Amino acid sequence: MREPLKSENDLCWGGKKREYPADVKRWLQVMAERGWTAPTWPECYGGGGLSKARAKVLAEEMARLGLRPALFGVALTMIGPLLLQEGSEEQKRRHIPAIVRGERLWCQGYSEPGAGSDLASLQTGAVADGDDFILNGQKIWTSLADKADWMFLLARTDPQAKKGEGITFLLMDMESAGVTVRPIKLIAGNSHFCETFFTDVRVPRENVVGRINGGWSIAKALLGFERSAIGGMFKKERPEGDPLVALARRYIDASEKEIGDPMVRDRITRIRMDQKRLEFTLARTAENAKAGHKPGPESSILKYYGSELNMRRQELIQSILGPHALGWSGEGVDPREVRMTKEWLRSRGNSIEGGTSEIQLNIIAKRVLGLPE
Ligand SMILES: Cc1cc2nc3c(=O)[nH]c(=O)nc-3n(C[C@H](O)[C@H](O)[C@H](O)COP(=O)(O)OP(=O)(O)OC[C@H]3O[C@@H](n4cnc5c(N)ncnc54)[C@H](O)[C@@H]3O)c2cc1C
Repeated sequence: MREPLKSENDLCWGGKKREYPADVKRWLQVMAERGWTAPTWPECYGGGGLSKARAKVLAEEMARLGLRPALFGVALTMIGPLLLQEGSEEQKRRHIPAIVRGERLWCQGYSEPGAGSDLASLQTGAVADGDDFILNGQKIWTSLADKADWMFLLARTDPQAKKGEGITFLLMDMESAGVTVRPIKLIAGNSHFCETFFTDVRVPRENVVGRINGGWSIAKALLGFERSAIGGMFKKERPEGDPLVALARRYIDASEKEIGDPMVRDRITRIRMDQKRLEFTLARTAENAKAGHKPGPESSILKYYGSELNMRRQELIQSILGPHALGWSGEGVDPREVRMTKEWLRSRGNSIEGGTSEIQLNIIAKRVLGLPE
């Protein structure tokens, strides 16, 4: 059994360009053979074919045994579910089994220097040429683009149409001629973001998902999957007990009975209660999905609440660590403490990725609560 998950860097994202330790590869292979990297996906595309209830049992049992999921990433949480819902039969057969086996790492080409929150303003253009589109432009903040095998992206195919109406959703092989990727270095010292440039890149028409110029509704469907996935990330089965309590005992008060500092006790209790609230809301959403509802604007609630909760949790961890959170490198620095500080820095991105918290609040106000502009 491997140690429990510690950080993003311990996870297997699959793909051809990344090397993983032999045991990680073997674990992926064993799980993929059963389709258990994507337990609820149909067996005909390599998935596990499990009902949601059985998949939940699988996840709970794996957590109880301290087993990490064999595969992570946007392929499983975003483009896979989208292709199952909106892709052509050919696209499903081509991509879904490869995703289940962890053979393709995907990245998301949405944001551009002038189009983040206002995504429909995107300027990357695709012009039809025979059986292909020719792609020119730039994406930014493309997570893992330097490691990715494929990208799903939005391009403007009708510059005369209204903002949202001339956009097409494309699948692009990252090995295509004319794709340049430039990593961006981050405050935490790593570099998971990239700028991605397209110069006369040929993308076959068969890689259009949905209709040409009909990509905006596909883009929003994908954001629904993305936001639900981000919200769901912060609900973790923790059979080993609450790590916040363990941390407080280690760094503040070693007493077995209760944590001595009432402020810390109060903050931990609040976070645990809010975590429960999120879990119940996620369970309700899962029930709705079982009844056939696609993720709609309600996914913004999960995304907003999950992100803000994780940021509060990371802030609390930093308060508990106190001066122990200040180490970064050098002798005598505990790598577990550095990792927690890096996770705190990383959590700031939760309120931005997949659409900022302000944008989620706008969507909740308008499309969930029906409030006026
Ligand atoms: C960790 C991380 C991973 C990411 N990965 C990817 C990726 O893989 N692929 C990808 O395409 N993008 C990715 N992004 C980019 C992300 O989607 C954008 O950063 C985000 O949509 C915001 O866009 P922006 O940065 O251009 O900010 P802007 O849109 O310029 O926003 C700046 C500020 O103005 C506020 N604001 C803007 N409009 C409004 C409004 N109407 N009402 C109220 N407030 C508003 C915003 O909330 C924000 O605070 C990632 C971002 C992060 C942090």
